[in-house]
Amino acid sequence: MENRGDSARGTRDQALRHVREHFADGAQYIAGRPAKGTSGRTHTVVDPATGDEIHTYELAGADDVDSAVAAARDAFPLWSAATPGERSDALHRFAAVLADRAGEFALAESLQCGKPLKLSREFDVPGTIDNTAFFAGAARHLQGQSAGEYSGDHTSYVRREPIGVIGSIAPWNYPLQMAAWKILPAVAAGNTIVLKPAELTPLTSLLFAASATEAGIPDGVINIVTGTGGQAGERLVAHPDVAMISFTGSTPVGKRVAEIATGTVKRLHLELGGKAPFVVFDDADIEAAVHGAVAGALINTGQDCTAATRAYVQRPLYEEFVSATADLMATVRLGDPFEPGTDLGPLISYAQRDRVAGFVDRARTHARVVTGGAAPQHLKGAYYLPTLITDAAQDSEIVQSEIFGPVLVVLPFDDDDDGIALANDTPYGLAASAWSRDVYRAGRATREIRAGCVWINDHIPIISEMPHGGYRASGFGKDMSAYSFEEYTQVKHVMFDNTAVARKDWHRTVFGDR
Ligand code: NAD
Repeated sequence: MENRGDSARGTRDQALRHVREHFADGAQYIAGRPAKGTSGRTHTVVDPATGDEIHTYELAGADDVDSAVAAARDAFPLWSAATPGERSDALHRFAAVLADRAGEFALAESLQCGKPLKLSREFDVPGTIDNTAFFAGAARHLQGQSAGEYSGDHTSYVRREPIGVIGSIAPWNYPLQMAAWKILPAVAAGNTIVLKPAELTPLTSLLFAASATEAGIPDGVINIVTGTGGQAGERLVAHPDVAMISFTGSTPVGKRVAEIATGTVKRLHLELGGKAPFVVFDDADIEAAVHGAVAGALINTGQDCTAATRAYVQRPLYEEFVSATADLMATVRLGDPFEPGTDLGPLISYAQRDRVAGFVDRARTHARVVTGGAAPQHLKGAYYLPTLITDAAQDSEIVQSEIFGPVLVVLPFDDDDDGIALANDTPYGLAASAWSRDVYRAGRATREIRAGCVWINDHIPIISEMPHGGYRASGFGKDMSAYSFEEYTQVKHVMFDNTAVARKDWHRTVFGDR
């Protein structure tokens, strides 16, 4: 009989074969076709669960970015002139192709990221299909102000128009969903796009673009350039034919992108880092809070911009919360992402694993590591144990900086004012949660926590209809929802003279007498 290890190996081999066949023609996708990068440099995608090489590809250089932008510019007149109904139909067909290929997408995403297959299958891929269907619908629901005679002599109305060629840059943590969040609202609104995925994880963005072609979305509407941030990324941001930059990534790189984009006066959309608080009031359902904290902190091995990273627990529940959370964390199963029983995969790379370990090791000198705090000895990939830390100072690095790993810090607070003040005490403001059975306490948390999303008695769920985006150092602009669709349009005021009079009364304020 086949044992569980054999079945995981079989699934990985299937994913590898598919990736190698599919990407043999290169890791760029320009004008509806795969292409090889011409930077003269290569990058090897590594399976973080094993350290094995998956695929080596030629990185994009400035010339490839220029070709992709030219393809997007050429495709713009036709695509922007398509009716909302035509764009909507194309996106519905796209959603159907994605649904047919759901299995392939899940395998490729798990292979390149080390995500447990259940996460790719139950979160990344269905979320992406749903997003595609949502934007297919949204394409037909562009809303504007009513037209009217706001000056007695004129009729005014507002047109919402696509912006042009959008340049998008995405991170490695949810490569497929990030590609979808950037591409779908942009093309639904009639723009064309050049997306640069993270060089570590290009595979599903490329599959996504190829699926769009298969669905009949015209060549050049969606282009992918896979290169480094410094080379392909900066060229895209500075490109004179790119009208808007939509960036998701870390706050320091976002600042650099903003600097470059300002030089060519581009519209900017920045989805940056996070350090989400998780505030547990003393009337909370502790079992729910403990389960929520473990799921919220460990999703995607903690490499989630909204992950629960700082739990503040009101003093009466604090000790019980720490011990129950540590106990539950210890039950989480690390292992092969292709093994059905695996809960937690590796980090994206050995470098990221070492970065996370560095944060924890520095914290050890002044805080207490209750559980975890090490790489497991029995696994060869870039794994790190679920880690719970207490007794850290609020102003310490482990509490203030984005770690992007399976690490939760738990600290106590006394009264509600303190809990909310601590939640707001980092530069970030992407997401937060509050846990209470008291509607007034929960309501206060939703008003006073400064973040783009506040969950009550849950942490993590997202839906296509609702916006995702930050406050403060977490950036500005919204992904998903009708709000993001609007960001990819610009508003034009159109004003018609209704008088047909050559010598208009108002001209006398400029020349002549009354
Ligand atoms: P990163 O900032 O290092 O890189 C993001 C992207 O920017 C990559 O494609 C990279 O190649 C590119 N890049 C790097 N330098 C560049 C430059 N000088 N010019 C142009 N592009 C450049 O981030 P990462 O490590 O890939 O991803 C993790 C970060 O992303 C975390 O901070 C996380 O919070 C954030 N994130 C935010 C959201 C959100 O919605 N707010 C979602 C996912 C991830």
